[in-house]
Amino acid sequence: MNKADKSLIYPLFIPMQGCPGRCIYCDQMKISGAGDFDLEAAIIQVQAFIRRNPSRIKEVAFYGGSFTALDEAKRERILCQILAVCDPNTSIRISTHPLYIDQAILEHCRKYRVFTIELGIQDWHDEVLKASGRGYSSKQALDACRLIQDAGFRLGLQLMPGLPGSSPQSITFNHEMLKQIKPQFLRLYPLILIRGTELERIHRQGEYQPLSLNDAIQICADYAELCQQMGIRIIKYGLPSNIDQSEILAGPYHPAFGELVKQELLKRDLKKHPQRCVQLSNQELQLLRAHGCKFSMSPI
Ligand code: SF4
Repeated sequence: MNKADKSLIYPLFIPMQGCPGRCIYCDQMKISGAGDFDLEAAIIQVQAFIRRNPSRIKEVAFYGGSFTALDEAKRERILCQILAVCDPNTSIRISTHPLYIDQAILEHCRKYRVFTIELGIQDWHDEVLKASGRGYSSKQALDACRLIQDAGFRLGLQLMPGLPGSSPQSITFNHEMLKQIKPQFLRLYPLILIRGTELERIHRQGEYQPLSLNDAIQICADYAELCQQMGIRIIKYGLPSNIDQSEILAGPYHPAFGELVKQELLKRDLKKHPQRCVQLSNQELQLLRAHGCKFSMSPI
């Protein structure tokens, strides 16, 4: 395991700052539950985080927007002031949009101790990207990943099962792309229909149906099995549980979504290896019984 995999992360939210437009499904204010970004407050919080964890490997992460799409002067001001209160054990992680990656941007990232870049790809398939209005092609997303990897940054990807236009074929294509790119880690956020988004209107017109909870679990479990073979860590399943649930109109939201995926993986494993039923740990037994699961299999 890479050293940075064990790092502590202090998250800062810059809801939708820098984003080239508003994606049809997105409202980061509601998803993150964070207000507007306040640099002065962030500096104080980061300072306290550094003091509490002097000897740990740490990252300060900027989530919820497109960090590298902010103008250079703004990025510089934010990073200079945050790094001024960091110790040498701390690096920066950013989340950004694939269209805002080029050599100059990566040089700037390197100068300000960015070690990890997360790209919100959401889907690799051109039809899905088009139907979801993401504004880039599969090829452009791939080029951004290659630039990041070739420049030596850690690459994380965010994918969003259930986007408009997705299909079994697009999921297979996404699997193939993951095998090609092999990012260090992956986040899976099945699409949840949020009140007030453009997708709400499309849904009301009957032109979009979100995934069922079970379909989202199955799709994520398939990704998990693939990632296990490829050595790609999945660091998050599902949207954060701090989202105001009254803002969710439809879709596969569950506050313990990640646990449901792990439960599905365990059930699949037991079906393949029924002899394991007699060797389950207490933790696995608890997982099998969690959330009203009725899984049963007689030990052989
Ligand atoms: S999905 Fe990403 S790029 Fe689109 S509006 Fe939300 S934060 Fe910005």
